[in-house]
Amino acid sequence: MQTLDALNTTLRSYLNPEQTNHVNRAYFFAEQAHYGQRRRSGEPYVTHPLAVAGILADMHMDHQSLIAAMLHDVIEDTGIEKVAIGEQFGPTVAELVDGVSKLTQMEFGSLEEKQAENFQKMALAMAQDIRVILVKLADRLHNMRTLGVLKSAKARRIARETLEIYSPIAMRLGMNSVRMEFEDLGFKALYPMRAARIDAALRQARGHRKELVEKVRHQIEVTLQQEGHDVAVLGREKHVYSIYKKMKSKRKSFSEIMDIYAFRIIVDSVDTCYRVLGCIHSLYKPVPGEFKDYIAIPKANGYQSLHTVLMGMHGVPIEVQIRTQEMEDMANNGIAAHWLYKTEDHSAKGSQARAREWVQGLLEMQQRAGNSLEFIESVKIDLFPDEIYVFTPQGRILELPRRATAVDFAYAVHTDVGNSCVACRINRRLAPLSEPLQSGQTVEILTSAGARPNPSWLDYAVTAKARSNIHHFLKYQTRDDSVALGRSLLDKSLASFGSSLESLPAEKLAKFLAQQRYDSLDDLLEDVARGSRLPTFTSQQLLSGLQDSQLQQNNDSDQPVAICGTEGFMVSYARCCHPIPGDPIEGYLSLEKGVVVHREQCKNLVDMRDHNERRIALRWDGAVEGEYRAELRVEVENRRGMIAVIATRINSMGVNIEKISTDDKDYQFTYVNLEMLVKGRVHLARIMKRLRTINHVRKVTRIKN
Ligand code: MN
Repeated sequence: MQTLDALNTTLRSYLNPEQTNHVNRAYFFAEQAHYGQRRRSGEPYVTHPLAVAGILADMHMDHQSLIAAMLHDVIEDTGIEKVAIGEQFGPTVAELVDGVSKLTQMEFGSLEEKQAENFQKMALAMAQDIRVILVKLADRLHNMRTLGVLKSAKARRIARETLEIYSPIAMRLGMNSVRMEFEDLGFKALYPMRAARIDAALRQARGHRKELVEKVRHQIEVTLQQEGHDVAVLGREKHVYSIYKKMKSKRKSFSEIMDIYAFRIIVDSVDTCYRVLGCIHSLYKPVPGEFKDYIAIPKANGYQSLHTVLMGMHGVPIEVQIRTQEMEDMANNGIAAHWLYKTEDHSAKGSQARAREWVQGLLEMQQRAGNSLEFIESVKIDLFPDEIYVFTPQGRILELPRRATAVDFAYAVHTDVGNSCVACRINRRLAPLSEPLQSGQTVEILTSAGARPNPSWLDYAVTAKARSNIHHFLKYQTRDDSVALGRSLLDKSLASFGSSLESLPAEKLAKFLAQQRYDSLDDLLEDVARGSRLPTFTSQQLLSGLQDSQLQQNNDSDQPVAICGTEGFMVSYARCCHPIPGDPIEGYLSLEKGVVVHREQCKNLVDMRDHNERRIALRWDGAVEGEYRAELRVEVENRRGMIAVIATRINSMGVNIEKISTDDKDYQFTYVNLEMLVKGRVHLARIMKRLRTINHVRKVTRIKN
């Protein structure tokens, strides 16, 4: 069992005293936080984080990773918050602990098996700092080592998750020691009978061979010493899971797989690797075709070593691997081995930079060797993803591009869901459709039968599927709306020149449509409504060449276009000034969105005065329908329950509040900002009057932009 003393011995071998102290401080912090909690085995809980830190210390990970390892269950299992960790150990450690907690919270149990790969990617995508993954792997490793005391159903679930999720992640990061241990422990938990049989056979074979192995080992060592190479020769054994996989995939018997003697020789330099190889080839006869130089041509995952097979005494094959300590570290610990080489940058950025360096190193090695880049590409994509991974409420994982929103998610689920979506919940909280999603979130889409896509979605939908569906919908479903609006815009403009669509000579119109490549008048009107063709210019083009006498004088020319609230998609209401019926208004013809209605005094409208040709005179129709968004600011005394009083009063008038927020004005007064749907100015005035009668309300004003 790991003790603090033993850990400190390891720490002192590669960290400075100050860093070692910080790690110790984290230990005592964790001990206190978990005070009274015990593991299932009965030991105090702190033995677990201590062991996890021990695993990472053996890999020579930096002190921040070790502190995070000590604290990794503190947020999840004790009442301590991220902020408190930040205050004690700095923001980077707080982020690491928070990241590990988030991974721990992800439920894999309910997922289908084929989702495992996406889950791995999601885990990697969620870790802003790659050290989060390394701490999580160490955490899982210790849990697997102590799995025996768990009830069997839970143990099986954890074992399956380890084999399907964590062992592939370890492999992608080149951490083979961890991967092999995951596999052996997972295999034992999932298939205890098979594992026990292989284990027993292994032990028996080991007994038989012990003497011979020792003899060969000694012989190699002595030969190398005579040549002046003072190196360690290690006996090597296959691990249980790899024997099982080989028996299964190659249909070999246990003795066929085991009938080989394997050694590893660790030397001080690349040069020595080749010289040691020469010595060994002179000691035993090499088997032709079995020599492999993975130093000159590394394996796709960056593995480097020399491999050879020799024919030993009595014709027993002997497998030998020769490599440097650095190659050994890389083969065992992969990306974690990168932390051995100290730099001063301990931030998340430094961590990601090292991850990049590691990938870059693999890449260069591969380019020199000229073999497959597939592994590297997949590692690169996993570590620096352009995708996010989010859950449906049913636990399915969807892959979306970075910055995707709930609208993209809705269309990814189904086109019908996208077309009828009205709102969303992100992790069970109501959220705006425009909020960018993040990996690991659960997204639920609320739909409504009569709902239609909104042109404003195009401002934030990023996937091709969502965008093309919205465009498609807007194009066809809103055609009638557009044609009608385009007709009234163009007619109004023609009127200012003393003409109208009706009075325009038919052949003149037909010629113009042909010239401009329109199939019909409706197509032209639609373009006018969409803002891609301006009414004034179109009128001028249509009227050019006509005699003044052909133009009737029209008194209507200054009449603004009437808005009656039922125009549909091609008329929208500006979010900056929230016009409501009764307000003096003016329109702006925008590309894609059609006519946007602003209040006349809106600052944004004034800013657009350079585009006078896009401004349109508007008025409210006498029979205007619908509900319009209005914003009020209520200044109230700071008292408990005031927001509830205000909300109840508004609700009692049958008005729906869309949004409430507060701003503290000073210690005595608070601003309550309300967004609600009203029928018009008269309606709003009535609401404001009712609000002013509430006790402790000082002032009620409508918000201008
Ligand atoms: Mn843990």
